[in-house]
Amino acid sequence: MGPGPSDVPRRILDAMARPTIGHLDPEFIALMDEIKALLRFAFQTENALTFPVSAPGSAGMETCFVNLVEPGDTVIVCVNGVFGGRMVENVKRCGGVPVIVNDEWGQPVDPQKVEEALKANPQAKILAFVHAETSTGVLSDAKTLCALAQNHDCLTIMDAVTSLGGVPVKIDEWGVDAVYSGSQKCLSVPPGLSPISFGPRAIAALEARTTPVQSWFLDLSLVMNYWQGEGGRSYHHTAPINAMYGLHEGLLMLHEEGLEAAFARHQSQHADLRDGLEALDFSFLVAPQYRLPQLNTVRFPARVSDEAAVRKALLENHHLEIGAGLGALAGKVWRIGLMGASACPQNVQKCLGALEEELGA
Ligand SMILES: *Cc1c(COP(=O)(O)O)cnc(C)c1O
Repeated sequence: MGPGPSDVPRRILDAMARPTIGHLDPEFIALMDEIKALLRFAFQTENALTFPVSAPGSAGMETCFVNLVEPGDTVIVCVNGVFGGRMVENVKRCGGVPVIVNDEWGQPVDPQKVEEALKANPQAKILAFVHAETSTGVLSDAKTLCALAQNHDCLTIMDAVTSLGGVPVKIDEWGVDAVYSGSQKCLSVPPGLSPISFGPRAIAALEARTTPVQSWFLDLSLVMNYWQGEGGRSYHHTAPINAMYGLHEGLLMLHEEGLEAAFARHQSQHADLRDGLEALDFSFLVAPQYRLPQLNTVRFPARVSDEAAVRKALLENHHLEIGAGLGALAGKVWRIGLMGASACPQNVQKCLGALEEELGA
C-alpha cells in the first residue's frame, strides 16, 4: 500500500510466465495491436499514436519532452510536488526555457496563475502539468488547464502516471496533446512500461521540428515504425515481450471491470480508509475536493513520535508497506496507496487493523 508499485494480481503474473516469442512474430504483432486498442480505451482517446514505451513512467515523461521541446522553446511547467520538478529538469535538458508556475505542496495547480503565465509568455509552446501528484495526493483540474492552453495556442503535456485507471482520464474530451502513464500504479502491472498517447497537434509539432530529437531510443519518428508500420513492422529495439504480456492482461482486466466501476472501487475503498484513519486521529493533507482516492496523504496523530519506526513495524510485523513523505513533506506525512488491485476491502481492513495494533489505539 505504498505509492507504487501496487499489488500485481496472480492472473497478470501468470500471463507474464508464458513462453517468450519473437518481437516480430505475427502473434506478438497481434498482441501489440490489442495493447494499443486497450490503451486507447483506458486513455479514452482515438489517437493512433498510442503505445507503451519500453521503460518505466520516467521514460514516458522523457519521451514527451524530448519529442516536443526544441532548444529555445518556452515551456510553462506547473510545479506542485516532486514530479512537476522533474518536468522542469526535462525541459532544461532539452535546451528549453522553463517558466515555472509554483503551487504549494498539497494544493492543486491554480488555473488563474497558469492563465497569467500564458498571458505573460505569448511565445510559450507547451503547458506541462501533473494530473495526479503522487508526492502529495492531489488531483489537478486537467480539463480547465487544457482549455486555457488551447486558448493561448499552446500544446499540453500531461503526467497521468498515477491517475490512469484510478480516476477519469479523458484525453480527447479534454484535448490533451501528449500524455504519459505507467504500468505500476493503478493498472497493477509490474513496473517497467510507460503507456503514452500523442494527438494530431503533437504529431504536427514533432513533424515541424528543425532539430533532431536528441534521444535515439525515445525518438517517436523512429519507434513508430515498430509500433505502427502498416503491413511490415521494422526492428527498432527488442520489446520486453513478457512485460507486454503483463500489460495486456492488466488492461484486459480493466476492460472487463469497466472504467467507471474501477473509479467507483477506488473511491469507495478510499472512503472506508479515510473513515478508519480519521477515527484513529489521522488527518488528511489535501482538501476533500482535490483528494486522490488512490493516494492518501495523511498527517499522523501526536502519539506517533517516531514515524519511521511505525512504518518499519508495519512492514516487519504485518508485511504492510506504506509510503513515507517526500521532499518538503518527509517525516511529516505518510502516503497510503490504494492503487489498482490494492484498492480492496482486505487491504483497507488490514491497514487499519495493523495501525490500531501498532499505535495501541
Ligand atoms: C511514479 C510516477 C512517475 C515515474 O514513474 P516510474 O515508473 O517510477 O518511472 C512519474 N510521475 C508520477 C506522477 C508518478 O507517480
